[in-house]
Amino acid sequence: MGKQTSEEFIDVRRAVRELVDEWLVAGKFKPSCDAWLRHYDLNFTKAMAERGLIGISWPPEYGGGGRSGLARLVVTEELLRVGAPVAAHWIADRQIGPSILKQGSTAAKEKYLPGITSGQVTFCLGMSETESGSDLASVRTTATRTDNGWLITGRKIWTSQGHRSTHAYVLARTSRGESKHDGLSEFIVDMSDPGVEARPIYDLRGEHHFNEVTFDSVPVRDDHVLGKIGGGWEQVTAQLSLERGGIERVLSTYPLLSAAIEEKLLRGGLDADSAPQTGEILARLATLRAMAFDVATAIDQGKAPTYEAAMLKDLGTILEREINEFARLLLDREADPTADGADGLLAQGILAAPGFTIRGGTTEVLRTVIARGVSKAGKKSSTDGDDLRGVVDQVLVGLGSDPGDSLPQAWDTIRDLGWTAVGISEDRGGEGGDLRDVVNIVEGLGRHSVSVPVAETILARRVLAAAGLDIKDAAEVATVVIPGPDEEVLITAEGRLTGAVARVPWGMLAGELVVFGNLRSGKEVALRLPARTEGLHWTKGANLAGEPRDALVLDGVDVPDGVVLENAPPRFDVLNEAALLRAAALAGALETAFEKTVEHVTTREQFGRPLIKFQAVAHLLASLASELECTKVAVRRAVDAVAEGAADSWTRVATARVIASRGATEGARIAHQLHAAMGVTREHPLHLSTRRLWSWRDEFGTQRFWSARLGRRLVEGGPDELWRWVTEQKSAAVTRPEFGSASNDSHQRRSSGEQS
Ligand SMILES: Cc1cc2nc3c(=O)[nH]c(=O)nc-3n(C[C@H](O)[C@H](O)[C@H](O)COP(=O)(O)OP(=O)(O)OC[C@H]3O[C@@H](n4cnc5c(N)ncnc54)[C@H](O)[C@@H]3O)c2cc1C
Repeated sequence: MGKQTSEEFIDVRRAVRELVDEWLVAGKFKPSCDAWLRHYDLNFTKAMAERGLIGISWPPEYGGGGRSGLARLVVTEELLRVGAPVAAHWIADRQIGPSILKQGSTAAKEKYLPGITSGQVTFCLGMSETESGSDLASVRTTATRTDNGWLITGRKIWTSQGHRSTHAYVLARTSRGESKHDGLSEFIVDMSDPGVEARPIYDLRGEHHFNEVTFDSVPVRDDHVLGKIGGGWEQVTAQLSLERGGIERVLSTYPLLSAAIEEKLLRGGLDADSAPQTGEILARLATLRAMAFDVATAIDQGKAPTYEAAMLKDLGTILEREINEFARLLLDREADPTADGADGLLAQGILAAPGFTIRGGTTEVLRTVIARGVSKAGKKSSTDGDDLRGVVDQVLVGLGSDPGDSLPQAWDTIRDLGWTAVGISEDRGGEGGDLRDVVNIVEGLGRHSVSVPVAETILARRVLAAAGLDIKDAAEVATVVIPGPDEEVLITAEGRLTGAVARVPWGMLAGELVVFGNLRSGKEVALRLPARTEGLHWTKGANLAGEPRDALVLDGVDVPDGVVLENAPPRFDVLNEAALLRAAALAGALETAFEKTVEHVTTREQFGRPLIKFQAVAHLLASLASELECTKVAVRRAVDAVAEGAADSWTRVATARVIASRGATEGARIAHQLHAAMGVTREHPLHLSTRRLWSWRDEFGTQRFWSARLGRRLVEGGPDELWRWVTEQKSAAVTRPEFGSASNDSHQRRSSGEQS
């Protein structure tokens, strides 16, 4: 399945939107938090059924829509956006219908699937028992053989909507094997049978959605068994990907987020504190949505993405809980369970939140699942592939080191291979290739801890090429000088350059500079200057990794003819591309920190066992794996947006920077914690990755710079535009500019005189 644009599901999105809007306008429901579990209205379910929106991914012969799991993602996210009353059909649509489709008898398929898609049949989930929570395989409910079927006896608990469902999915023991995972089977049980009794349990919100359900010799026919008798464990674990990998694990509190942001806008907009916090929350949200898209794609391909679904649920449920706290601080008011609007939504969100990280598998259980997957998967990076990543790995393996006073030996190889001219067309003297290739190389340098000015040289050369120059005669090493928010480079009335820029990467080793400055009128200019020009004063500096970050003072530098780069790309586009390359480098360094950590915890032993066998260790490793996955997804999304020339690509880059910077912080912390004493030395190579992670997360715009900018930009268009951005899988391409693609936005900014 190729990449999808939001346009490809426009009909599905529109159908859901029309229904929801109609009901909202008629006052038939109010948006609520955690609607998918608690907001129950069979009439809404029937209205969805009439529009063909239940079972949209199932085959038409069973009443389904014949579409993909991705179409279902669109349906579900549109419903969750407004907290629509969907609880009646949620479980059946999400996992029981697909299980019947996969494991059910023909009779069960014919009976239940059309029943679900028409809103006549609803399901609850009978898995947990009083003594079987996380240890689901220990269930005691039994199914005893009869002449033509089974008799179910036992007690299930926490059965959401069990009191109003027509049927239950029940996991029961049919035999005892050597392992507790043997002898489990799955059944469809009729909840109207006289042997079924549901006792209400009231939750924190004082609502009745859960039940304790007793089954007393309830008959089940053979054709109501799902799959193989005794094969229930394998089946149920595959089903859990569906239960865990949906976007409802991310969006339970979205109605609150949307209402809080809208209200803040009405009260004057984001301030210096709330802008970066908003940017961070939205960056996480969009990245998790992209992960949900990947899970749905994998399910469409017939896979059971167990680990990815576990990561999504772990990260998503933490985010939905944090949205409560974010909204609380943004609103700066008390939660009010009796109120409508944001205050009421806040009350709903707070009281529902403890359940988020429990239902469908607790955070702890999920992290155990992730850690198991990680230690089984082993080392991911290739050293013998024939793709660019494989080639980069082959060239760079073993070359990582601390930077010295001059360029390392690796530089000669890199230069001779032409890597510093990749991403520049051959007719401008480059090696060809595009931004994806540059990203691949830069990520590889990050992965192998090779400190060389490749990103900077390519960036400078891409500016020269975009300005129409040939780079054949360009200096071997170049860098870009981009003033930060509190810095400036000015061309005076006398035509001289003045100003100061701290922390120019590789400045003193560069042969030439591409300097961004302003005329007194405010107009942006870019200039190409030899690094040894009179009036340029350098002071040596370094980042935490020891890489050169030199301070530059421009003291009345003469600007001879020909150095001004007419037609240079806007400064913000260059900054944007630089930020993307740093995000890629962060992804590379994080991957290595992760791999070193996996190796360490699987080989080092304490108390007679490898460290990974200790749950505290495994859970930290799982969190590190999730940070890496998020970072990779965000970087990939940003590269796609920029390479495809999307109008809003800078917002994807900002997202990648925020996610990668967060990943760097948390990833480095975990990697060090697990390496313990030997990791805090310069003898162990971990520092080659972590010192780079700490440095790069704030270069070419700090994490806060990008998150604040992102927050402001995303909320200014209002809730509809924000939602479009969150759910857009592939941005609409505008033109394919020569350099970057933030141009639409930066043109606006230039005309408003805003600085990057
Ligand atoms: C809102 C909500 C709705 C629910 N709906 C349903 C439903 O419809 N149907 C259904 O069948 N179930 C439902 N459940 C039940 C849910 O699946 C269980 O609550 C969950 O599996 C955890 O089981 P438990 O509550 O017994 O906790 P326990 O398993 O007893 O866990 C208690 C604590 O110990 C930790 N723990 C347990 N074992 C381990 C371990 N091996 N390693 C580390 N930590 C561990 C847990 O993470 C948790 O923090 C629902 C739960 C909630 C909160």
